Amino acid sequence: MLEIAQEQAQYFMELEDKYGAHNYHPIPVVLSKGKGVFVWDVNGKRYYDFLSAYSAVNQGHCHPRLVKAMTDQVQRLTLTSRAFYNDRLGLLEQKMSEMFGFDKVLPMNSGAEAVETALKLCRKWAYKKKGLPENQAKIIFARNNFHGRTLTIISASTDPSATTNYGPYMPGMVLVDYNDLESMKAALEDEMVAGVIIEPIQGEAGIVVPNDGYLKQVRDWCKEKNVLFIADEVQTGIARTGKLLAVCGNCSCGKKCEKDFEIKPDVLILGKALSGGMMPVSAVLANDDVMLVIEPGTHGSTYGGNPLACAVALEALNIVEDEDLAGNAQRLGVIFRREMQKLVDRSDLVVKVRGKGLLNALVINDSEEGDKAWNICVRLKENGLLAKPTHGNIIRFAPPLVMTEEQVMECCKIITDTILSFE
Ligand code: PLP
Repeated sequence: MLEIAQEQAQYFMELEDKYGAHNYHPIPVVLSKGKGVFVWDVNGKRYYDFLSAYSAVNQGHCHPRLVKAMTDQVQRLTLTSRAFYNDRLGLLEQKMSEMFGFDKVLPMNSGAEAVETALKLCRKWAYKKKGLPENQAKIIFARNNFHGRTLTIISASTDPSATTNYGPYMPGMVLVDYNDLESMKAALEDEMVAGVIIEPIQGEAGIVVPNDGYLKQVRDWCKEKNVLFIADEVQTGIARTGKLLAVCGNCSCGKKCEKDFEIKPDVLILGKALSGGMMPVSAVLANDDVMLVIEPGTHGSTYGGNPLACAVALEALNIVEDEDLAGNAQRLGVIFRREMQKLVDRSDLVVKVRGKGLLNALVINDSEEGDKAWNICVRLKENGLLAKPTHGNIIRFAPPLVMTEEQVMECCKIITDTILSFE
């Protein structure tokens, strides 16, 4: 029986290996079903999903309200292009404008496209409003950033696996150290700087949380220098870090309001959980003084703002509010880190736990950056929990936000027992 099961999984893995490009290195599990915090493999084995498709499935797999919103809309109208108006886009834009506190919304599809859009918007604003000379605008990025995979975006990457052999690169990118105010201050002295793009927590870099006050200071300097502060919340946004946005104040109400912003960005980028894992939906938000520099015909996307995406995203955001996912992530995150700290205290294999809300990571003691974290993830899989290393020795833990306290405790036990089994 077990052999047949293994053969079945093997078949699908070999199929991908033979016919698919080798641009990922997946954990060896073949998934065929998801519900809430769980996924099942082709043999019917159930796992806790602790990746949530890189924080896209915040609302849980196949949330019934999302399935309904999607199946209702798919039978009515799916794509019009923006050559015409549709009866869903304005509703989503209104919802997002009110929820996140910006005048305008520009919908795209993938996270990378939204980042590209924000960078274009920033440059155009610099020429039309700030008055920079043509083709001179620069944008500041932090080292170890991850904003996506396009040529422009990787031009600002410091990760050789993202950049090697993809040159020539886009000019106009300035790099500073993340969480280092001195290097940011120095970079902002350049008068050609139009914007700073930053992840409020660096996700792919290994859930790197900046010092308290760092983002606020950068934000204040941007205002002083008339530079746009662009927050890439593709991974941290939509309740993941225990607040609606990582740049919100301490409140986890799920509704945005001016006074609640700890740091109000000039441009906000969202993606991933904006559709709760149903389809690619991303967006750029800004106030009129910035967004209206883009005029008809100067930027667009065939699928951006399609009615199917809008119906799904609208419901995905309603779920975040109705189920208080920010509050749940906040509460469970405290429990998760408390339990993992006990493991850190007990095990030499784990150096540190860090994160906010339900975006957390364990740093594994692997000075040679070997395959310890990978081996732990493979054994976690055997024990019914799916997670993936990022950058060698760091394991990210980001379950769907619909988890219960009882489930989080069960998962902490699986992680603890698995890691201790290596000693
Ligand atoms: N920005 C951030 C902060 C991300 O974490 C990611 C993806 O992980 C992206 C942008 C790119 O999103 P996508 O993979 O949908 O293009």
